[in-house]
Amino acid sequence: MKYFILFGPPGAGKGTQAKLMADKYNLHHVSTGDLLRKEIAKGTELGLRAKSLIEGGNLVDDSIVIAMIENEIGSHPEVNGFLFDGFPRTLEQAGSLEEMLDKRGQSIDKVISFIIDDDLVCRRIQNRANIEGRKDDADMNTIRNRIDTYHRKTEPLIEYYKQKNKYHEINGEGKIEEIFDCVCKLLD
Ligand code: AMP
Repeated sequence: MKYFILFGPPGAGKGTQAKLMADKYNLHHVSTGDLLRKEIAKGTELGLRAKSLIEGGNLVDDSIVIAMIENEIGSHPEVNGFLFDGFPRTLEQAGSLEEMLDKRGQSIDKVISFIIDDDLVCRRIQNRANIEGRKDDADMNTIRNRIDTYHRKTEPLIEYYKQKNKYHEINGEGKIEEIFDCVCKLLD
């Protein structure tokens, strides 16, 4: 089993690239944001807890997302590997992921980081709000909080994965196909 992490701020294009990668390499795409939105749509207790945090642009508790990931990697034996999109987002989550994989005698293969300017991120998220109708994409304060949370809590993971020699950067500001070409070069 291969394990890849797609890294970058909200709106960097992780979800778009993940879908292309999942198809081409038979990987299971795991988006913690999508999983949480499904729980909200189903009206579960977990969904209720996550809703206000997501709509405020804050992170959901580490224990919740870690349990979700454990559940995902325990299923889907049919795929070549897993593609994490939006996870891990904290050092705590990265540590738990490492332990989880270690127990299986496995590890992260590559972290692919999409580099994109904050202003472009803002514009892309506002644009996506009209297409996907996500509440957390529609409010400027929420967008700013998500970007700020990314810088404070998620960016420290860059150093964490650099030290493990797993970190790779790709320019995330180009066209979808150009970015996908770079991703493929990294994976092939
Ligand atoms: P995303 O779809 O990845 O942009 O995630 C949307 C929202 O879901 C985030 O702003 C967080 O509130 C929550 N979320 C998604 N993934 C995580 C995670 N790994 N840790 C904590 N919260 C998360």
